Amino acid sequence: MKEHEIKINFTEYGSLAELDKTDKELCEEAVKALDTSHSPYSKFRVGVAMRLQSGKILHASNQENVAYPSGLCAERVALFHWGANHADDPVESMAVTAHTDEFQLSKPVTSCGACLQVLAEYEKKQNRAIKMLLYCKDGPIWTATGIESFLPFLFFEDRLK
Ligand SMILES: [Zn+2]
Repeated sequence: MKEHEIKINFTEYGSLAELDKTDKELCEEAVKALDTSHSPYSKFRVGVAMRLQSGKILHASNQENVAYPSGLCAERVALFHWGANHADDPVESMAVTAHTDEFQLSKPVTSCGACLQVLAEYEKKQNRAIKMLLYCKDGPIWTATGIESFLPFLFFEDRLK
């Protein structure tokens, strides 16, 4: 028998004022993306802003459907849009934020496992780690670069080619 331990590292900032200019701006762009959320069922809006190498910023939000599984998280809306339209312009960073009128969020919202698996796919495709900024408007900001910080047991089977 052999025990293993996996450690992850992330950085916590107390407020937007502690971030550098580009990261602060990206978090603010994610807040703007909340307005495009289609979330009449959960009333839980999620906004994403992605900064590409060229400087271009893409926006996305969660899109729900009355047939629940047909909806999609904001992160995958962003990543699939990037994959279909901007894949020659690598993703440098992604800011994620959320808002609901139902209760107050005091911690950043973290991405679901399916979105993290998709993030892993595109990090591999572009051969570059993506900086994640998980931004809570009334709480801290958590940042880490590279999918292994979020999903250490991500699925990768290199023989599937
Ligand atoms: Zn998700």
